[in-house]
Amino acid sequence: MKNCLQDKLYFCIMALNTQLQNRSNNVCEICSEKDDNLQAYAVPPKNDDTIDNVVALCSNCLGKITASDFTDSNYWRCLTGSIWSETPAVQALSYKLLGKLKAEEWASETLDSVFLDEAITDWANAEDEMAANKVVHKDSFGVELELGDTVILTQNLNVKGANFIAPKGTVVRKIRLVPDNAEQIEGKIEGDTIVILTKYVRKQA
Ligand SMILES: [Zn+2]
Repeated sequence: MKNCLQDKLYFCIMALNTQLQNRSNNVCEICSEKDDNLQAYAVPPKNDDTIDNVVALCSNCLGKITASDFTDSNYWRCLTGSIWSETPAVQALSYKLLGKLKAEEWASETLDSVFLDEAITDWANAEDEMAANKVVHKDSFGVELELGDTVILTQNLNVKGANFIAPKGTVVRKIRLVPDNAEQIEGKIEGDTIVILTKYVRKQA
């Protein structure tokens, strides 16, 4: 299983494996066009090439999806067909794309007429929800912190459980952001990975 880096700027796109070639019959699973260069697209937030997570896409569909280009709404009428796929990944992607087009009557009617498992609609909505709830970590000066940053402690910290005090000025490299808590980061001090409150650090420029 391959994993891909995934955030707004990265998409998980891979060559088709045999399983996906068979499932898709070598046509795009969204628009049904034949394309010799179909790609496996992991429907976010899934980010690996497991067969259940990917959709075979033609270069047109893939290009528009990765560019979030829904201006040509007629192009996407193919979704009224693909939404009825029996493949969960295709259902999830179709549902998600129809959501982008729901200002169009045909798209909102299609969304109203399908009944999908909650797991599928949750999957389809997950990326937008994650973006809406994006947790932003900021240092004591309000500067945004990112994965891999180096920070400096702005005061002496008593490291719980480790029985030592990390002095003010301690440099902590390669921090990690605690995903669901904007006030916490993780970093290594004296070999121990500890949780540090963002209000006690300053990002090193
Ligand atoms: Zn296509």
